Amino acid sequence: MLRTEQLSIQNHPEYDGHEQVLYFEDTQTKLRAIIAVHNTFCGPALGGCRFYPYKNRDEALTDVLRLSKGMTYKSALAGLPLGGGKSVIIGNPLTDKTEDLFRSFGKAIQSLKGSYVTAEDVGTAEHDMDTIFSETPHVAGLTPRQNSSNADQVTGNPSPITAYGTFCGLRACLRQRFGDDRFAGRHFLIQGLGAVGSALASYLIQEGAIVIACDKNKNSLDAIKKQYDEKINIVDTDHLMKLKADVFVPCAMGGVINDETLATLNVSVVAGAANNQLAEPSHDQALFDKKILYAPDYVVNSGGVTSVGYEYFSRQNINPYSYPLTKASMMAHVARIEQTLDQVFALSHKKNIATGQAANQIAESIFRPSVSRHQRTAS
Ligand code: NAD
Repeated sequence: MLRTEQLSIQNHPEYDGHEQVLYFEDTQTKLRAIIAVHNTFCGPALGGCRFYPYKNRDEALTDVLRLSKGMTYKSALAGLPLGGGKSVIIGNPLTDKTEDLFRSFGKAIQSLKGSYVTAEDVGTAEHDMDTIFSETPHVAGLTPRQNSSNADQVTGNPSPITAYGTFCGLRACLRQRFGDDRFAGRHFLIQGLGAVGSALASYLIQEGAIVIACDKNKNSLDAIKKQYDEKINIVDTDHLMKLKADVFVPCAMGGVINDETLATLNVSVVAGAANNQLAEPSHDQALFDKKILYAPDYVVNSGGVTSVGYEYFSRQNINPYSYPLTKASMMAHVARIEQTLDQVFALSHKKNIATGQAANQIAESIFRPSVSRHQRTAS
């Protein structure tokens, strides 16, 4: 039996006006999950479901509060009619996943009546979303066969879309820092050649960029070497961030910009797809002070959420735009990351503030306008 508990989080250090935070437990299926809805001003709160062996409920709560807030900022700046939310399931994804557990989780999502929409994240995959879909329509990132023919046009693995959005974002960065958006002959350090990093490397190599990359996984390295051989330079993971280059492109894990790495970082731009690149919020200012142009990660990597959002709209037969929801219109939407970054850089320049701060201010003006939606509807 599914038990729901409203969590009181007003005094939690990560509390940021979250609209709803619910804990779900089902002793039969062993589900222990938290769903956090941060903000629904722009639309339903979309954000992935992380399956992770948290030490306890408090650790899971801290993570879900932080991650759900991040999704509000990401969707707002991506120009999506979506809010921010996230969910976490406490457990080991290698041993604790069962169909019953995901069905139970699907019921939990359904109880929120569409205010939260889930998708894949660390520890969950397309087939888990398919199971959730058997209990609720408020899920995206399904395997293509589960979708309607309309949704087929805008579904599939979001990683190549994230890579494309990052590539578009890099163009804005080059223009801002060097005065032109030429890739050819410029040096890019890619950290992580997984799903996003390897697709991004392809874009850069095709444009004639000099790509130096690393990955701690031999399979990832072998795959890219097979494809590009002498067109890509592979270096040691410990060595990459010490090299002099034009752009550092983080596409692996978070926290890579920290006190230690900043001391030796020798690039003009930091722009990549990895989530939570800054170890501390203060590293935004630290990059600004060092005159390294930082493209805020959640702006650059929003191609994935745009792809998942389009899939959700298609399947729900909702079209918030004045054009058809197709793969082409979705890619054109993702390409607007370039213009969004132009705006972020312009505000940063105008106010002499760090770029992360500028991005946050723009996002907050979108999802926290001075007049609430309730007041606007009433007037
Ligand atoms: P992935 O797991 O496919 O690839 C990550 C790669 O980084 C792996 O090959 C791994 O071996 C490598 N790696 C890990 N630690 C490393 C280290 N210390 N040094 C060098 N390489 C290291 O993941 P992905 O889907 O390509 O995502 C990459 C990043 O982008 C992640 O931070 C992810 O959260 C973020 N992101 C991805 C998407 C998406 O659509 N996939 C969307 C938004 C954000």
